[in-house]
Amino acid sequence: MTNRHEPKNGFRPVVLTFLLVVLTACSPAEVPATTDAPAPSAANEDADTIDLIISGDYVVTMDANSSVIRDGAVAVDDGLIIAIGSADEINAQYTANGNLEGDNRIVMPGLINGHSHAAMTLLRGVADDLALMDWLNNYIFPAEVEFVDPEFVRIGTELACWEMIRGGTTTFVDMYYYPDVIAQVVEQCGMRAFVSATVIDQRSPDAESAADSLAKGKVFIDNWKGRNSRITPIYGPHADYTLNAEQLAATRAAANEAGVPVSIHMSESPFELQYSKQTYGMTTIDLMESIGFLDGPTIGAHVVWPTAEEIRILADRKVGVIHNPTSNMKIASGISPVTDMLNAGVRVGLGTDGAASNNDLDMWEEMRLASFLQKVDKMDPEVLSASTVLKMATSGGAEAIGIRDKVGALEVGMRADVIQVSFDDVHFVPTYDVISHLVYVADEQDVASVTVDGRLLMRDGEFLTIDTDRVRREATELAARIQTALAERNR
Ligand SMILES: [Zn+2]
Repeated sequence: MTNRHEPKNGFRPVVLTFLLVVLTACSPAEVPATTDAPAPSAANEDADTIDLIISGDYVVTMDANSSVIRDGAVAVDDGLIIAIGSADEINAQYTANGNLEGDNRIVMPGLINGHSHAAMTLLRGVADDLALMDWLNNYIFPAEVEFVDPEFVRIGTELACWEMIRGGTTTFVDMYYYPDVIAQVVEQCGMRAFVSATVIDQRSPDAESAADSLAKGKVFIDNWKGRNSRITPIYGPHADYTLNAEQLAATRAAANEAGVPVSIHMSESPFELQYSKQTYGMTTIDLMESIGFLDGPTIGAHVVWPTAEEIRILADRKVGVIHNPTSNMKIASGISPVTDMLNAGVRVGLGTDGAASNNDLDMWEEMRLASFLQKVDKMDPEVLSASTVLKMATSGGAEAIGIRDKVGALEVGMRADVIQVSFDDVHFVPTYDVISHLVYVADEQDVASVTVDGRLLMRDGEFLTIDTDRVRREATELAARIQTALAERNR
């Protein structure tokens, strides 16, 4: 058993008094894991009292050795993982205020959705079966200018957080408009997120031009940097076909000045490849390298069409590539050379993209499709194995976005972003290999509990930070208004 927990008996009464005050002040939706707290038994009366113990038939750590612990448990205190080991060892050493029981449960790190446009949940299904540029220019961009306002972003992001928590996602990297509103929703729902200020050289819901969106982005980043440890404000330059080379370089300079990463759509579709070649005489990633755009932490979404030389650049520059298989398939963007990138040492994570091009935020489906798509592309069933793809959704994704020191694996000292997956459903019978089942069988509905920073966000399907009835009602009302307006416009 690993253990970094230091006895705190000296100031424990003070902490408990503080906790009691905080808990008394919390609304019911904010109360952390305090129910079902067992009274300390005679057997462990000497044990330290901590916040939470999360148990499981298996603890899938995703650590450097890919350790899986049978009948294990994770001890959580003050938002951190303080010990991992067998359930017997953990229960002997600690008494917890909250316990998540482990029968038929797998404990693992929360999933990392490396590319999303969360509020687009409200545009789910509004225009399907179209090519990327047709879809963007004739449907999504006009619909966004007409309908997207702070209220839309608030409701859509809440809806997305509800869906992501439901499916065991604990961190997401978002790119949308009104980032201040997105960050406020993330603050309340308890997830961890990178929130991008979108920079785009066209009239958008929250800006008139590249310069305007960049200026507003600076205000957002100044406002949110260092404000909440779960929320990282970043720049989201949209793409190399919606910003020119000077605007891309200016965004990178602003990001470096603020000390934050950028997230960008990168080499997504054949259109983008052609556009870049015609406009600059070079392909997207070559262009970005030539203007110094990759001189700093970069999250590149999609990367479907990199050349061999560009793959080398991505590895050298430690660009975090986010593979979005469902979106790439649905919009027929192509098949990303994920296997080649991994072999070249590129950091590759997984994402859902927005719900208008997916059409859900289910990371389990992304894992499965990522694996299957590479197998059929290479005509080789051995590529992108279950364990490789599970890593892309957890520790590999954390590395791709630059926070592997905090999350992505269950290790002592890491933030406690932990989920339990229930193996109660018939589709887990029988269970020979837990990793195979997590990747090739599990889905959103199997997630039993979600904890971020040691705080329970969902327990046995009950949402503790989101008023789901209100969000459902508001989303349904807003969608009805959008549908009516679209019908009138197209009449
Ligand atoms: Zn996207």
